[in-house]
Amino acid sequence: MKTTWTQKRLTRLFERYNRRFWENRLRRVKVRIAHLDDCVGLYSEGTISVDVKKHRSDRDIRSTVLHEMCHAAAAEGKRYHGYKFWAQIEHLLREKAPITVDSPETGGLKILAGVIPKRFPLSRAMMQKAEKRRAAKVERSFRAHPEMPVEIIGRGEILNYFHDVATNDGLTWREALRAAGSDYGIIDVEGKATRQWAASVIAKARKAYRRWRRDFLESKMASALAKSVTGDQAPLLELYRKLGKAKAEALQTRIEAQWNAARVTRARAAESEAPTGKNCVE
Ligand SMILES: [Zn+2]
Repeated sequence: MKTTWTQKRLTRLFERYNRRFWENRLRRVKVRIAHLDDCVGLYSEGTISVDVKKHRSDRDIRSTVLHEMCHAAAAEGKRYHGYKFWAQIEHLLREKAPITVDSPETGGLKILAGVIPKRFPLSRAMMQKAEKRRAAKVERSFRAHPEMPVEIIGRGEILNYFHDVATNDGLTWREALRAAGSDYGIIDVEGKATRQWAASVIAKARKAYRRWRRDFLESKMASALAKSVTGDQAPLLELYRKLGKAKAEALQTRIEAQWNAARVTRARAAESEAPTGKNCVE
């Protein structure tokens, strides 16, 4: 059931939860009703925003407020939904707070098996249930579409994936790991390997990725420099913007050095082939 929610009521809820679960230690934040584009709740710069319309029940709204309060309590830095966040969720589950966890709490990881480490047992159990629901849904759609091709994913397929996103999409290692982790279930909420097997695949990919990424960036820089010679500065500026000045500069220096070395080699080759003065006289 869903009743009417106002900003005042949301604020009271925040205050009540702050007393009950955090001994009033949470810094007072602004709680507001908002229209949010692609989420149901948001914590940002001391404000909790809740898109009330997107919730089906009061229970869902309470769960969202608690979720955002965990962000406020976790002091996460750059990593959202990582271990610091989950320590707060675990605390809430121990206190029997009305919060449920599912894929949104993982920050978008699709495969949920093992994404919560064992040291958060209540959260892990709840997430394993969510994983069962997810897997059952996949099974159902397989049964409904027996013609659907099945692909067995192993080490080789995952390495191929890393290769493709490095060379075609130019993803950084962090982005690639995030994407692969989501699709193949090899990383947990903190970006760490979910199990031994995953760790060895990630280590192997990491090693090769450096080379793939370097090759990708070098070919980008070479073509950007070639274009800038003809007067088109846009690709070069774009690369500088993307990589940052220091990185782009180092890359440019490296490519130019390679070009110079190639020129010197060519010149030397031409020199050695040219008839020497002495031969000409004779
Ligand atoms: Zn969140």
